[in-house]
Amino acid sequence: MLTITFLGVGSAFAKRNFNSNCLFEFWEKSWKGDIPPGPPDDTLLVDFGMTGPMALFQLKDKPGFQHYKTQFGGINYPAIRKVFITHQHADHIGGLEEMALMNTFVFNDKATGKPFKAQLYSTINILVNLWDHSLKGGLNTIQNRYALLQDYFFIHPLIPGQPEKKSFTVGPYKFEIFPTDHVHIERKYDWPSYGLYVIHPGGRSAFFSGDTRFDFPAYQRMMEEAEICFHDTQFFDQPESVHATLTEMRSLPEAIRKKTLLYHYGDNFDAPALKPQLDEFKGLVQPHLRYTLFEGV
Ligand SMILES: [Zn+2]
Ligand SMILES: [Zn+2]
Repeated sequence: MLTITFLGVGSAFAKRNFNSNCLFEFWEKSWKGDIPPGPPDDTLLVDFGMTGPMALFQLKDKPGFQHYKTQFGGINYPAIRKVFITHQHADHIGGLEEMALMNTFVFNDKATGKPFKAQLYSTINILVNLWDHSLKGGLNTIQNRYALLQDYFFIHPLIPGQPEKKSFTVGPYKFEIFPTDHVHIERKYDWPSYGLYVIHPGGRSAFFSGDTRFDFPAYQRMMEEAEICFHDTQFFDQPESVHATLTEMRSLPEAIRKKTLLYHYGDNFDAPALKPQLDEFKGLVQPHLRYTLFEGV
């Protein structure tokens, strides 16, 4: 059984919602209702932005999320086993320094007794830039010595062009990356960013856009086949936008709109004038609400 819970659903600059980061949870045994019978068997956090730690701090006190809470009331970081990074904007990576330091200096891996390290997945390009341009500043020195990204995480580089290296698994579910046209320098895809296509072993699937401009031709096959789609959206029109605008999203076929939940949205999400347009979709993703993607295996 696979679920998805968004730590936040806001745009990079939203203040009424946290950053659009989300948590996939896998249970070997399916359960029904709102409260799981126990902690998940595996977890995958997709992005951890600058508001991520505070979002997780609040989530852990919600019913059904107590496995993210330590006995002292803090965040139980080792409950997050896997992390995937879609791209390098701060609303997607700004919380990683805290996670790395907490895991290294506060928590131990129960199996080895060594500092806990989460499994980190992304493309080589993003991983190198993540360290060199973002995390290195705060993490390259541990007391009395220098440190590298692999001191904090087990690194799993993905290679998008190679079929066997463009995916990873959570339980029996395959998470396949695809490039997104979010920000580019000279041409499409020249600044790396990725979305996820989640594939059930029986062939069912779910689509998660990551940050992207509107590019339905590139995603059409996946969005048509998926049972549910999560797509980033900004509510206002803008030339050269780096996100899909609501106007563009409204041009999607009705069958796609009706299974698409919107996220990465602005603080005016509850403006009455937007409601008729938003009603054309399955809805807005609600933060801190666990959605079941697949009930069985
Ligand atoms: Zn973003
Ligand atoms: Zn972005």
